[in-house]
Amino acid sequence: MRVLITGAAGFLGSHLSDKFIAEGHTVVGMDNLITGSMDNIAGLMGHERFSFIKQDVSNYIYVAGPLDAVLHFASPASPNDYLEHPIPTLKVGSLGTHNTLGLAKAKGARFLLASTSEVYGDPQVNPQPEDYWGHVNPIGPRGVYDEAKRFAEAITLAYQRYHGLETRIVRIFNTYGPRMRLHDGRVVPNFIYQALTGQPLTVYGDGSRTRSFQYYSDLVDGIYRLLHSDEKLPVNIGNPGEMTILDFAEAVIEISGSESEIVHIQPSDERVTDDPKVRRPDIRKAKRVLGWEPKVGLAEGLAKTIDYFRSRV
Ligand code: UDP
Repeated sequence: MRVLITGAAGFLGSHLSDKFIAEGHTVVGMDNLITGSMDNIAGLMGHERFSFIKQDVSNYIYVAGPLDAVLHFASPASPNDYLEHPIPTLKVGSLGTHNTLGLAKAKGARFLLASTSEVYGDPQVNPQPEDYWGHVNPIGPRGVYDEAKRFAEAITLAYQRYHGLETRIVRIFNTYGPRMRLHDGRVVPNFIYQALTGQPLTVYGDGSRTRSFQYYSDLVDGIYRLLHSDEKLPVNIGNPGEMTILDFAEAVIEISGSESEIVHIQPSDERVTDDPKVRRPDIRKAKRVLGWEPKVGLAEGLAKTIDYFRSRV
């Protein structure tokens, strides 16, 4: 296959690029580098089956030659990033999805959208199955990401229904691993950085909010299976191991062997407004239609991620 991956210089886009190259495919990577980094694809540059185009996919996209699949992963994904870049976030989810769908249609390519557990908003159902419609505040600070991704899902289904395009949608739950940016503001890099530098771990509020963390390699495996499957409606890919943020802070301290303390702080209103109180994927559908379930536990995944960050602090 010849595959276009948008957001190829990002955390997930770069790991996906590695996977497709390893499976023998040809990858065209695209990124405007607002949150991505060329360091993530340094190992692919110069590979005969990898090429890179620096481009904002919210503008018209030109790719020469045939494409068999388009994987749309371009988007800021950390709350801090989308608060800092609200309009590019809205544009890449809307205009960028429209452009990449148009490209897939012109090339007769299969399209896979990176969607998110944020489409469920601050959920009133836990765990979240795919048929839950969500609880999203369109005009809150997170609305720029949540609504862009909800629009992206809607336009993807419209291209499937009205143009007969082969489309797939993965709803990605919290994912961590090497190549996350040390200062992207998310809880995993924040806590690891703090633990490795002996600073207190900053738990927002009382730490009772929950998340479920999956290691990136499980996600990449799920996405690869989904692209090759017949499932046309969204599929959750995440690790159902739900824990409180306070327990997560304790796990990071233990696994890193850190002597850091835990502090409870109240960050800016914008940062915590509409912060989901709970989040956990219902993965019965992924098990049924993809034969997929996560394999990497928190202790193993965190140890590998901490090793990666250790060399970078
Ligand atoms: N959080 C925290 N301390 C931090 C960063 C985040 O307590 O230094 C909390 C945040 O309020 C949220 C959870 O950790 O409840 C996960 O936040 P993250 O930014 O990783 O992403 P989200 O899952 O909200 O998209």
